[in-house]
Amino acid sequence: MIAQRLTLSQALAAARETRRLEIGSGILPQVPALFRDVCPQRGAMLVADENTMRAAGGAVQRAFESSGITVRGPFVFHDPDLYAEYRFVEQLEAALKAHDAVPVAVGSGTINDLTKLAAHLTQRPSLCVATAASMDGYTAFGSSITFQGSKQTFDCPAPVAVLADLDVIRAAPAEMTGWGYADLFAKVTAGADWLLADALGVEPIHAQAWNIVQGGLHEALTIPVAHDRLVEGLMLGGFAMQATKSSRPASGAEHQFSHLWDMQHHTHEGQAPSHGAKVGIATQAVTALYESLLKKPLHELDADAAAAAWPDRETWLRRAEERFAEAELKAVALREIAAKHASREEVKMQIISLKRQWPELREKLRAQLVPPAEVKRRLQAAGAPVEPEQIGISKARLRQSFVSAFFIRRRFTVLDLAMRCGVLESCLDELFT
Ligand SMILES: [Zn+2]
Repeated sequence: MIAQRLTLSQALAAARETRRLEIGSGILPQVPALFRDVCPQRGAMLVADENTMRAAGGAVQRAFESSGITVRGPFVFHDPDLYAEYRFVEQLEAALKAHDAVPVAVGSGTINDLTKLAAHLTQRPSLCVATAASMDGYTAFGSSITFQGSKQTFDCPAPVAVLADLDVIRAAPAEMTGWGYADLFAKVTAGADWLLADALGVEPIHAQAWNIVQGGLHEALTIPVAHDRLVEGLMLGGFAMQATKSSRPASGAEHQFSHLWDMQHHTHEGQAPSHGAKVGIATQAVTALYESLLKKPLHELDADAAAAAWPDRETWLRRAEERFAEAELKAVALREIAAKHASREEVKMQIISLKRQWPELREKLRAQLVPPAEVKRRLQAAGAPVEPEQIGISKARLRQSFVSAFFIRRRFTVLDLAMRCGVLESCLDELFT
């Protein structure tokens, strides 16, 4: 599918919640004017941690103080173990309840997630000053927060305005840029998955969201990293999600690996690896699966045989039951497997449709995807981890994750296609020899 590149303002017009986006160098002093534009007559309060206060918060606070806008003292998280956990939302929520100021998150993933949700819980909008190009969640609706030990997505709107000062972004730790670059690279495999779902009539492509994400994607993934394009690409992913009210435009099988490892409470050297680090490893894995799949003559499949080999609903549920030991993960797998179950007749029709389209679809996928060695080279150059062991995932566990990731989400991806065609195991044999 040929993507048409949209201007930022066209993309913004498609976003349901975010009204302004500013990206540029030396633009921190513009935050008060942006604030006044989206929240006239309101007071402001910055939300930051000690690092982001140093990186940008101090300058933003000073800009507010000389702007005529009522600004409270900043709310600074001092906990060195700050992460997106519900008790920190509660701390911020309690502080917000004492007044009606609009919070301005100054930070990256954690600060933004905490602020988005606390603002929503106190019935007010939020703004964001991004301090690193580390993930695509700035402009996404919903907040990913750990609640009672497990990561959950809470409904809440995206910030009404986002500002990214490229001087601040460039000064952020280099590894954070690598994470964001990997999260943007994930849109390549996510796009391929959407092409598959569209071709098989499972989930049609939303043209506007496709253009927002895919239009400038390959240009944004050049090496060396172009910070302006990277930041823009990450923000666009959120706008496409706002337009479709779904994460489909920005997330495919590669994100399912990351969600799986989150649900398994995976840590490496005492810490949960960053979202982008996990997604980057998974993007390489999914790219390799595509590479193997694209070599297969799927137009020669026997649709009757594939349908006959497709397990029935009870078998799938039993496999989900047996596969996961942990109660929470088991419950998710049972729910998702039940939701996405296809009958033998449906699988047969999908295989017939695939056979007819495969030569053409294969070329579309080749045009969409980046070859595995090139993905690795670029992720490495951007500073992202490229070996699963770097995030504490063994090769054996990575192989298991291909199958487990299939079970934990109803979204149709390359995993579902390979499963239906009965070729997943042979592809994995090829990948892991
Ligand atoms: Zn992501």
